[in-house]
Amino acid sequence: MTKSPTCRHCGAPLTRTLVDLGLSPLANSYVGIEHRDIDCPRYPLHARVCDTCFLVQIEDAVPASEIFSTEYAYFSSYSDSWLAHCQAYVDEISTRLSLSADDLVIEIASNDGYLLQYFVERGIPVLGVEPSANVAAAAQEKGVNTRVDFFSNALAETLVAEGRCYMSPTTLDGRYALRVCIINFRTQREDIDFLVDEVLRIGRDAEGSTG
Ligand SMILES: [Zn+2]
Repeated sequence: MTKSPTCRHCGAPLTRTLVDLGLSPLANSYVGIEHRDIDCPRYPLHARVCDTCFLVQIEDAVPASEIFSTEYAYFSSYSDSWLAHCQAYVDEISTRLSLSADDLVIEIASNDGYLLQYFVERGIPVLGVEPSANVAAAAQEKGVNTRVDFFSNALAETLVAEGRCYMSPTTLDGRYALRVCIINFRTQREDIDFLVDEVLRIGRDAEGSTG
């Protein structure tokens, strides 16, 4: 905690504390009653804000794969008021962007499908990416197409390796994104539709392979 960390986005020194909550056990990682007398591991919960790009971040004290496991306990749909907000959001954004069956909505960290389910109701194709298998299974039961994975190069590499279409990953405003570059004047609307279909198909294949 005495070393000076750097921003994971832009590399600038992180010197400004947003809030320091000391040491904390992992959230949503409950302890069985048989272990109630054993002190659980605690990790620094110290949020800093970058003075250069304003990204708020905590230290990487625990590997993501240990946090988002097959027993992740947080299901977003537990909250009725949150679901009501999500439904209202989908109504608003679908209208504002004129979303239809020709579009694709991708959500990173899509949890149990709490948000994407409302796009599905409207007939708008979706792809959720959620690393916690038990939570993703709840989404799949709702008919929300979900890939059990961390959002990474993997999806883009799978698409490229199959050779049916080409995508390249990029970072946009600090966020990882799939990138499509169209420079061939012969590209038609059908080619774009094909690309979206391929993304959906790989998501379905991942769904099938993970059960
Ligand atoms: Zn930064």
